[in-house]
Amino acid sequence: MNRTTSLLLSMILLSMTSPVMAALNVFTCEPEWSSLVDELGGERVKSFSATTAFQDPHHIEARPSLIAKVRRADLLICSGAELEIGWLPMLQRQAGNAKVLAGKPGYFEAAAMVKRLDVQVEVDRSMGDVHGLGNPHVHLDPRRILTIAEALTERLVQIDSNGKEFYQQRFNDFKQRWQQSMKHWQQQAMPLKDKRIVVHHRDWVYLFDWLDIEIAGALEPKPGLPTTAGHLASLKKSLSEKPVAMIVYTTYQNSRAAKRLSQMMNTPVVELPYTVGGDKEVKDLFSLFEVTIKKMTGALQ
Ligand SMILES: [Zn+2]
Repeated sequence: MNRTTSLLLSMILLSMTSPVMAALNVFTCEPEWSSLVDELGGERVKSFSATTAFQDPHHIEARPSLIAKVRRADLLICSGAELEIGWLPMLQRQAGNAKVLAGKPGYFEAAAMVKRLDVQVEVDRSMGDVHGLGNPHVHLDPRRILTIAEALTERLVQIDSNGKEFYQQRFNDFKQRWQQSMKHWQQQAMPLKDKRIVVHHRDWVYLFDWLDIEIAGALEPKPGLPTTAGHLASLKKSLSEKPVAMIVYTTYQNSRAAKRLSQMMNTPVVELPYTVGGDKEVKDLFSLFEVTIKKMTGALQ
């Protein structure tokens, strides 16, 4: 066997034994972004979410296992707008992976891609755990999900240019299914229009903005602070003027305050899946909206 033949042979063998392409390692801060990148990236990505629907994404422990995951990541996808400010910067520092630092293509902040609500001009500590860059819980508006999906597709192409056509085709397919679903959800949610709903935390701002639902009040006296008996009493008083349709809380929040106010006001209380995995039926972003709207309309009296 001459040199050229053996070289050729070893190249053929190499191409047979090594995988055609290694999937991108994607570390996401919350399950909704794993779900989105799976939709867009298919078999070209392998996603891992740092949190589940039962963990409060504002407060996560920067465990060594998470640091190891960030170290191996090609792409980080987080909500941003300071939602993960208490734990993500530490993970990034400890992991020592320059690819996924802020400002690098390997770091993608969903909230930075859309217009944010609740933006405070001046923020100080007396206001509680207020996010200065606006409300970070952007995934609960399907319109914003679509904008984020488009930006994420561009980012995937930037990092993995060989997959350009693949990603663009998957985005187009996702967009079509998503827009159809949005029409369906809007129909389903009609009875909720102009209703007044009490939330635990203002994580529902974006969904309610989309569906024209009014936030009548919050169980937290200030964002991030626990409810007090005094706050519930004054909430009851201020709410009694106009009817309230329901009180909602999420899987990662303590249900006690919501149930207490529900008894005090004789108003229905509903636990909602905040993200993918928050209910056994919620397996992806599509079922997240489907189930959320079904639970809310089901609570109307
Ligand atoms: Zn928040």
